[in-house]
Amino acid sequence: MADLGIPRNTIEVLQKHQFNFQKKYGQNFLIDTRVLDRIIGAARITEEDCVLEIGPGIGTMTQYLAERAGEVVAVEIDRNLIPILEETLSAYGNVTLINQDILKMDVKGLAEERGKPLKVVANLPYYITTPIIMGLFEDHVPLKSITVMVQKEVAERMQAGPGSKDYGALSLAVQYYARPEIVANVPPNCFIPRPNVGSAVVRMDRYETPPVHAEDERKLFAVIRAAFNQRRKTLANSLANGQEPGISKERTCQALERMGLPAAVRGEALSLEQFAELSSLL
Ligand code: SAM
Repeated sequence: MADLGIPRNTIEVLQKHQFNFQKKYGQNFLIDTRVLDRIIGAARITEEDCVLEIGPGIGTMTQYLAERAGEVVAVEIDRNLIPILEETLSAYGNVTLINQDILKMDVKGLAEERGKPLKVVANLPYYITTPIIMGLFEDHVPLKSITVMVQKEVAERMQAGPGSKDYGALSLAVQYYARPEIVANVPPNCFIPRPNVGSAVVRMDRYETPPVHAEDERKLFAVIRAAFNQRRKTLANSLANGQEPGISKERTCQALERMGLPAAVRGEALSLEQFAELSSLL
């Protein structure tokens, strides 16, 4: 029975193993069963699923996942947590525990070995949220969905559209690969220790094909990154100062004119579709 979401049980495990939290690993463990139920419900786990959990901590969510999924692969960087996990997960025969840095792992190979797309479910370490999510998308890891706890601000950026203050390169990158939806807001008192920021659970359902056609994906993202690097400049100036060679201010202005957009437009006004068109024209 999954019983670690109850604060008393978590504290007992931590004390028994004299566990010291490592700030550098973004360790904030969940101690709220309602939040755990929300995450698991949002991820719609079935027996058919192979779930990748990034950062299981002491195994709180892993227990919930193991009770519902066919298989759970839990990847934890902190080796001090491994003996704890071996104990808290000993009753579950369908959990594979890997002591590794997720950013150094061949996740694509893991999915290919399983022969099916993965569901990723995690209460992510906030210091590497973006590299983890973008790594999964950009490496084209076979995925059904990603359901993760992230910093509230980051969740809002993922979901934002043109014109909003939160809209930026992360919004466009996530929305190119998946449909993001914030499914719950989670206050600091649901964690031990309490984080200094609010959190949110966001589910991203992976598109089979992106919603827009990009002739050259690499170029599309180079244009997007350059457009938001200097938010206060016009798009044409930002791109001229960016890393992508051969994009002069004049070329961007011509392309914008063909698209019926003013030469002084800023990146934050363009939709994903317009960025795809612009990068093709450039
Ligand atoms: N899942 C647990 C929970 O909800 O209670 C713990 C979540 S805690 C926010 C993040 C976890 O990710 C920690 O256990 C931390 O040690 C682990 N972690 C941090 N960096 C990691 C990395 N690069 N690769 C794998 N795990 C990592």
